[in-house]
Formats: sequence, structure tokens, C-alpha cells
Amino acid sequence: MVIILLGAPGSGKGSISNYLKEKHGFIHVSTGDVFRKTITQDTPLANKLKQIMLSGKLVDDDTTNEVVRQEVLRINNPQANIIFDGYPRNVVQLEYLNKLLKVDYAIDVQVDRDEIVKRITGRRVCPVCKEIYNIHFKKPKVENTCDKDGSLLVQRNDDQESVVIERYKTYMSLNAPLIEACKNMNILHTVKNDQLEHAIKQVKDICNLK
Ligand code: AMP
Repeated sequence: MVIILLGAPGSGKGSISNYLKEKHGFIHVSTGDVFRKTITQDTPLANKLKQIMLSGKLVDDDTTNEVVRQEVLRINNPQANIIFDGYPRNVVQLEYLNKLLKVDYAIDVQVDRDEIVKRITGRRVCPVCKEIYNIHFKKPKVENTCDKDGSLLVQRNDDQESVVIERYKTYMSLNAPLIEACKNMNILHTVKNDQLEHAIKQVKDICNLK
């Protein structure tokens, strides 16, 4: 089964993906995670990506599609359960993915804009296990420390408010045609994420997961 998660930055795609990975054994493909790993290196590509990501803009489609092609090759299993988080972000990427494999569900995760800014600027992430926390409503047991492995939590560079607003604008400018394309493919479903547990339940119902 292949699921793609659509939705604004901060809508909860990462948390839903983590759940499906842990409880249902999905392989989680996050282009954002791949790019964040890439920019820790000191290469011309890393420096180019760093600038793009900190401007709130998208990486070009050829680079992004190639990352996904490599991930699919690495998985090398047509039966695998895969969740794509943050990919595709536009119609060109959707068309590319469709050539690589069959997408079963496109789930549009919806959250209000003000809530998104609050969620993202309060977000803290474990750099090791990728668990996601929030200083407002999902605090770790010990301040700034991952409950699972004790790592020091970090704030993503592109989670600062000014970048978040740019990322949201980028998302809004590309989202409508992407949603329309998924609707035309008969794979579109909508989930309201006012609470993570509710959103997860809706996703499980849509995908017939026990
Ligand atoms: P994310 O973690 O999905 O919010 O992605 C963080 C940043 O990585 C985005 O703001 C983009 O700069 C880049 N990125 C991630 N996924 C994509 C994608 N599918 N297409 C283009 N750029 C992407």
C-alpha cells in the first residue's frame, strides 16, 4: 500500500507517518528528512539546498524526484507499505511518482493557518529517533530531552516564524492543482487534524488499517 500525505508544513504529516511506521511497519519516506541530512555535509549541493530551505522555497523537481527514485530503488519491494511525507508537493512530482509506483491513497491533512504557525514555531524534534514534540502541547517529560532516547531536542532552522510564513505561502501556491490532480485520480481523502489521535483514527479508517 502506498500513501501520500498532503498538507501544509506543520499539519502533522510527520507525526502521522511516525505512527504508521511504528505501529504498522510502514516505510517512511520524507524528502525533507533526506534534504536535512544532506545539508549536514559540506558539498556544493548541500550549500545550495541550505539556502533554498532557509528561504522557505522548494528544492527543484529534478533533484527531488531523483531523491525519491533512489529511495524507491533502495526499498526494492513492489509490495512494500510506504508512506510519503512531504512528497509530492506539486503536480510534476505527482506525475513522476505515478510512473514509479501505484499510489493508493492521497490524504490531505488540514489544519488552520494560525494553529500551524503555533505548532511549527513550538516544534522540537529528536535528531536521533525523529520523535516530534511541542513546547505548547506535547512537552517531553524532561525539558528539551527526548523521552525515548534522552537526546537533546532541536528546533529545525526553517521552523522560525519568518521562514514558516514563506513555507506556508509556497504550500498555498501549489496545493490547489495538486489536490485537483489527486481528486481526478480518485485517490483523494481529507483528514482534519485538530487532534493527532483523531487524525490517526481517520487515516486508519480510510486505509482499512486495524
Ligand atoms: P518538510 O520537512 O517536508 O517541511 O521539508 C523541508 C524543506 O525541504 C521544504 O521547505 C523544501 O525546501 C524542501 N523539500 C522537502 N520536500 C520537498 C519536495 N517534495 N519538493 C521540493 N522541496 C522539498
